Amino acid sequence: MNVFNKVSTLKEFVNNCKFSKKTIGFVPTMGALHEGHLTLIRQSKKENDITICSIFVNPTQFNNAIDLKHYPIKHTEDKALLEGVECDILFLPSVEEMYPSGIENKNLVGFLFGDIEKQLEGAFRPGHFNGVGIVVSKLFHMVNPDKAYFGLKDLQQFLIIRKMTKELSFGIEVIGVPTVREEDGLAMSSRNLRLTSDERAKAPFIYEVISEMKNKINHSQAPKEVLDWGIQKFQKNTSFHLEYLEIVNTSDLKPVEPYQTPNAYAIVIAAHLGKVRLIDNLLIE
Ligand code: AMP
Repeated sequence: MNVFNKVSTLKEFVNNCKFSKKTIGFVPTMGALHEGHLTLIRQSKKENDITICSIFVNPTQFNNAIDLKHYPIKHTEDKALLEGVECDILFLPSVEEMYPSGIENKNLVGFLFGDIEKQLEGAFRPGHFNGVGIVVSKLFHMVNPDKAYFGLKDLQQFLIIRKMTKELSFGIEVIGVPTVREEDGLAMSSRNLRLTSDERAKAPFIYEVISEMKNKINHSQAPKEVLDWGIQKFQKNTSFHLEYLEIVNTSDLKPVEPYQTPNAYAIVIAAHLGKVRLIDNLLIE
């Protein structure tokens, strides 16, 4: 695997690929890689000639300086994992390389995604999707992939990037990959590394509750009833601080009441466990 730190080296490589008509699959990440990320890489390997993974902890998408400061960095382990799945290229730029004019607001071009960014993650992490939009569009211009792979674990991010890619005519196929979970159901996340062992043991509660909610929805229980049940479960479990729990339409992420077949829905959740903010979702199709 080649590791590129410079945009110029990456672009030269990409140009050569285009010249020799090789297709490029792209997997953007923030590192501290786990099986979820590796699943995206494996899918890209299957569907493209060349797979490029990027690792960049993007400062412009963090609205919480403590979260950014504590974001795990594991470049040595990450490289070994990427070698293991035979990733072709790792793009590992510095903040200065990605943002040569700095990351001050006045230096940045901004994104507005309309209604889809206003709820859920967007409501609790102001500016988050603007930062995601900026970094993903920069990376798309640098990597110029045929296909780009994103986890459905970050459902709102996936929907926003898919919209941005279409509206800005990037000509890239954005592919959503199902959430990879630990054996006990906890959605894999780089942030899980920050859980204490006691918190890690409690964390699967999130999946247990949303799975039972999905079960109730499949048995035609009304959304409000199912939601009240889920919220009560969290009110009784004082280890968690629930930020949001909703049953939403996957078209606009607005709450569903009542169900309207044949629409697709999702149960979406964000909860704090100790100092760690965990998100998850289950699709109901
Ligand atoms: P991150 O490094 O957390 O920014 O994630 C990089 C990519 O991996 C994003 O598209 C995520 O949605 C995806 N991802 C993270 N965790 C998982 C998971 N458990 N299953 C599938 N994809 C994931």
